[in-house]
Amino acid sequence: SDLQSELMASIRTIPDYPKPGILFRDITTLLGAPRAFRRAVDELVHPYAGLRVAKVAGIEARGFILGGAMAHQLSAGFVPIRKKGKLPHETVSVAYSLEYGVDEMEMHKDAFLPGESVILVDDLIATGGTAEGAVKLLRKMGADIVAACFVIDLPDLGGRKKLEDLGVSVRTLIS
Ligand code: IMP
Repeated sequence: SDLQSELMASIRTIPDYPKPGILFRDITTLLGAPRAFRRAVDELVHPYAGLRVAKVAGIEARGFILGGAMAHQLSAGFVPIRKKGKLPHETVSVAYSLEYGVDEMEMHKDAFLPGESVILVDDLIATGGTAEGAVKLLRKMGADIVAACFVIDLPDLGGRKKLEDLGVSVRTLIS
């Protein structure tokens, strides 16, 4: 569609970053393009307008930028999901798998009331390991996950399928 072409054209691809052989999809150019940024955020929230979503949870760091804009648009609160050791109050944490090894992500333990509805967001889903960790964390907190949203899906890496197998509805704008 016209939206997909505009978003695709606004994303920059960097070869061999952060390691040789990796094609890094850089959305800073999308964020810097006024029209593409607005259209991406509008499109991400579109199905959820009027659903009284309580919170948007963004994955550090690019999920913060998209999630803040989405939360504003939905009149929802924003909750940061951060790398270990960054949040000042009591946290709940979960281990998640990276390409090589594991890491931990955290959320404040009072970030949700049980049953509150939440939309999870990040810029991109690849293997789905990061988003799967975030889903586990949100479920540990008793949150009700309405959907997980990403600007970019790398379908060959199977992340969308991994989340759908966990019963999460996935929304992506381009693949
Ligand atoms: P996954 O856990 O394999 O799904 O990787 C997704 C996570 O890594 C997200 O937090 C992304 O922001 C980040 N990521 C992986 N590949 C890229 C890329 O090409 N561009 C931007 N972020 C990426």
